[in-house]
Amino acid sequence: MSRYIATRAIRGANLIVNEFEQMYKQAMNEKGAETPLAFPNTAYHLPLILGMTGQAVEKLGDLQSILDRAKNLLHPVPPDHRWTPYLGETLDAGMATLLAEEGIEAVRFAYKQQPEVLPGFKLAGGTSFTSPEFGGNGDGHLNGPIDDIQLRTWGIQLVDGRMPGFAAIVGCAKSNEVAVKIVRELQRRNILTFLSGNVNGRSIIHQLMEEGVELGYDTYTVPFGTDTISAIYALGFATRSALTFGGMKGGQARDILLYNKNRVFAFVLALGEVDDLKYATAAGAINFGFPVIADTVIPEILPTGITSYEHVVALPFNEIPGKDDLERAENLVQKCIEVRGVKIKLTEVPVPVPYGSAFEGEVVRKQDMRIEFGGKKSRCYEYLRMLDFDAVQDGKITVVGPGFEDHPVGAAMDLGIVVDVAGRKMQKDFEPVLERQIHHFVNGASGIQHIGQRDITWLRINKAAVDKGFNLRHFGDILHARFHADFGAIVDKAQVTIYTDPHEVEKWLGIARAAYDERNVRLGNMTDESVEEFYSCTLCQSFAPNHLCIVTPERLGLCGAYNWLDCKASFQINPTGPNQPIKKSTTLDASKGYWAGTNEFTEGASHQQVHEVAVYSIMENPMTACGCFECIAMVIPEANGVMIVSREDTSMTPAGMTFSTLAGMAGGGLQTPGIMGHGKFYILSPKFVSADGGFKRVVWMSSILKEQMAEQLKKVAEREGDPDLIDKICDERVATDVEGLVAYITEKNHPALSMESLL
Ligand code: SF4
Ligand code: ZN
Repeated sequence: MSRYIATRAIRGANLIVNEFEQMYKQAMNEKGAETPLAFPNTAYHLPLILGMTGQAVEKLGDLQSILDRAKNLLHPVPPDHRWTPYLGETLDAGMATLLAEEGIEAVRFAYKQQPEVLPGFKLAGGTSFTSPEFGGNGDGHLNGPIDDIQLRTWGIQLVDGRMPGFAAIVGCAKSNEVAVKIVRELQRRNILTFLSGNVNGRSIIHQLMEEGVELGYDTYTVPFGTDTISAIYALGFATRSALTFGGMKGGQARDILLYNKNRVFAFVLALGEVDDLKYATAAGAINFGFPVIADTVIPEILPTGITSYEHVVALPFNEIPGKDDLERAENLVQKCIEVRGVKIKLTEVPVPVPYGSAFEGEVVRKQDMRIEFGGKKSRCYEYLRMLDFDAVQDGKITVVGPGFEDHPVGAAMDLGIVVDVAGRKMQKDFEPVLERQIHHFVNGASGIQHIGQRDITWLRINKAAVDKGFNLRHFGDILHARFHADFGAIVDKAQVTIYTDPHEVEKWLGIARAAYDERNVRLGNMTDESVEEFYSCTLCQSFAPNHLCIVTPERLGLCGAYNWLDCKASFQINPTGPNQPIKKSTTLDASKGYWAGTNEFTEGASHQQVHEVAVYSIMENPMTACGCFECIAMVIPEANGVMIVSREDTSMTPAGMTFSTLAGMAGGGLQTPGIMGHGKFYILSPKFVSADGGFKRVVWMSSILKEQMAEQLKKVAEREGDPDLIDKICDERVATDVEGLVAYITEKNHPALSMESLL
């Protein structure tokens, strides 16, 4: 342990805890102990404080005990002689710093000084701060803390490996050019990047803003704030990962820290001069097992009992090998990845624009758009089919019809994408599984936006991508490269045809639609009774170690991304992977959904935490959830029914909680009767809570679900023998409390009211 680092970290900790104390006292005088304190859009209060101390801070006065705790962790600054600082004292200083920093940000929120305002700044994509309270459309505000909805969205990507880890960058790069390069290198590897801090007032956020780099959730680069204190949001995110996905509770500090050390591949990159507060904050990060890499000369901390890798690594920028600064930046990122052991899977895709999952959520706005396909003004579809081995010429890309060169900027045109694949292990049942990947694959290209699937596909290409040379053929190049890379076990050959010729577009649309119909029937005809085995999905166990989804033909995984056919395909592609067949064997209770095989499998896969699952019930032994569910169903006893909240719905619900709060109760791999996470399409299944009365139990549903699935829900209502049922179901536009809900369903004579009591 370097005495130099210890000295500076302890000094930094003393300073920031003192600042916290001053700020707290002033706020108590000005606002009083009862002033509410919260970060927006999270159910985890002040998440780091909750995780480390178990205390749910709700009002200003609650901070007193946090301040006391932080002070207790402080040690005297070592004198110049005769004192040997220990790692323990430095780590304590780090923890004190994090408690103080989170406390300070909370007080700033109470003064509406967070998220930070940066004139001229514009966040890319949606954020939590789009409400008027936080400045209208987000203009001018940095992101501040990450909201729970985003945490869950990223959770699934962190678990399935699309996102290998996160980097917390603090400070300012050598030049704007270097700043951009570092971020691009991280994006290219799909590493989530958090930005904060400054050196002499200049932040990497300023640098990236000046270079026109889009920052926000959409691009995996989140600007927290231009001071070091805002780096606390990265550690709040890490803490919540453990609480959300690891099933841990506030106060399990040691478990939360170990969870992060073992499962969250994160590191801190300190750019530019490191001051006392940065040392202190870095010491906080080391508590989480996150190493700190600095691009300046500082003493290093080598491996000790806590970690098998270095805690602090100095890589003075000018000494990094490379012919120029850009190469040095690239090598710096590479070194960070090596130090933390982040696992990266890179596929080279031959397109003239940057490519990687970091660009998947990117939005192409109308004013930036060169051309679009689908949407309101034109038609776009995609269709993947399996052909005989000899009928496919691998790598052949054909464009039938004119390109978009002659269309004016911002125009719309028709497009059909047809992918033919062949492979010895390919099966017809895999077609939809592979076809659905087109969405991810195409979205990976920077400047391309892909929404929807089948014949409701909507594609946009932005001007910048076209300037770099992107054309229609490149869709084929992307698909060819990715199908080989990701599905090489079943796809031996792939060819792609892009249709723009009006006659051909029409003809192939007919062929595609006939195939979609056929598939619907095939999936539609499959019942849980018609198969011998279900599938497990334990993909989320890297985050929720005791959770598994049991995926049946009539109940898809709760994230909505894996249905029974997908799991079957995934098992064939990777027989030792996360999707294993579960033999049903003896039926114990057909109506509640108990089988000897599913119980036995659950017992093992949950590490003896869950012994039985009633696949069709919310009331008795419901299936557990990790954290990435699309919807939450919860029993509303007063209405004798269940409500279904979509993750896209941020409004209040009749349960008196928003989705975020409910998610805290439903997730973490625990069984909680009366509440359950599930996939959107499960609502349409005849097996939806069928043990408890089925779809007729639904008394309230987020309106967005009603809108998105209007057609299908109509059919469900007919199936249930009550064609007007959907109209009898309340939503947040009518009522967000129990009284309003009961009044509405009583007026509509909802069938749940006359059903057997749920409790
Ligand atoms: Fe996670 Fe379940 Fe989705 Fe698998 S099916 S990825 S376990 S949520
Ligand atoms: Zn999950």
